Amino acid sequence: MKPPPFDYLAPASLDEALTLLGDLGDGAKVLAGGQSLVPLLNFRLVRPQHLVDLNGLAELAGIREHDGHLVIGAMTRQRAVEMSELVSDRWPLLAEAVLQIGHAQIRNRGTVGGSLAHADPAAELPAVVAALGGELVLKSRHRQRVLKAEQFFVAYLTTAAEPDELLVEARLPAMPPRTGSAFIELSRRHGDFALVGVAATVTLDEAGVCTGSTIALTGVGPTPVVARDAARALVGARPGPEAFEDAGRRVAEAVTPDGDLHASSEYRKHLAGVLTRRALARAAERATGAGQPTRREPR
Ligand SMILES: Cc1cc2nc3c(=O)[nH]c(=O)nc-3n(C[C@H](O)[C@H](O)[C@H](O)COP(=O)(O)OP(=O)(O)OC[C@H]3O[C@@H](n4cnc5c(N)ncnc54)[C@H](O)[C@@H]3O)c2cc1C
Repeated sequence: MKPPPFDYLAPASLDEALTLLGDLGDGAKVLAGGQSLVPLLNFRLVRPQHLVDLNGLAELAGIREHDGHLVIGAMTRQRAVEMSELVSDRWPLLAEAVLQIGHAQIRNRGTVGGSLAHADPAAELPAVVAALGGELVLKSRHRQRVLKAEQFFVAYLTTAAEPDELLVEARLPAMPPRTGSAFIELSRRHGDFALVGVAATVTLDEAGVCTGSTIALTGVGPTPVVARDAARALVGARPGPEAFEDAGRRVAEAVTPDGDLHASSEYRKHLAGVLTRRALARAAERATGAGQPTRREPR
């Protein structure tokens, strides 16, 4: 299949890109890594009049720590996140999640901003931002907005970004001391989008009692789903099989996933409970300093 015709525009700076988007309105689409947009174009599911290529905007790529947050530029390749020591040392939930995106070839081109802006509810990165209480920074010619995940992800493949806005960066707060995390998912084949995924964190006090937890799921709703009640119920408990079982049951009861050709709604509900239990157990173990994920070496 070939895409429908469009004007190709390659701005050389962020200002130029924002001016173009302001002038062109909803007739334009931006191109990042192309891993989701190009198939949509080729199947003629989207028909923009103008394609604004962000690949020349070096200022939108990069990973840095600022003010206690990890700041990731929208055009940062998923592979750069995978290879970042800062990410694996300080934001291990993100490091573990990014490795589960498709295949290395996809991650070489796919960007962090593209994955977040595409807002596929099965995608890993939106769930990580939701679990960690991260923020998404949107810029247009005239303003800047900073949104939380629950404000940014509004529906299936839909975000709060206006046609003249670009997602410019994601900000993830650091995890508190004695926090462990885990990202676990199940897909039918290696590299497929997961049926269900769970991002979990567990924070312990010095006596080993849970003082905080977050749980966010992929594949069980039109946006990443944050299981607040289940996470809250863990606070004050001593982590163990009973507490994790209870959290898994709460999550399975709370979610109402759609079924599709890959998995029924009932199976996804069941999976949400099982994977929550496992992710919490792994996160709690890691909070004690044991069972840390190993860093991926360059291949
Ligand atoms: C075979 C295959 C398997 C995959 N498996 C997975 C998987 O398991 N998990 C997963 O999460 N993803 C998976 N993906 C998708 C992949 O992660 C994509 O990289 C991602 O969805 C889109 O990122 P991109 O940089 O390629 O964006 P593009 O495809 O270029 O753009 C995607 C959308 O986002 C918009 N956009 C891009 N950047 C911005 C921005 N800065 N501001 C505003 N809008 C923007 C575009 O206009 C477009 O609408 C897979 C893709 C393929 C082809």
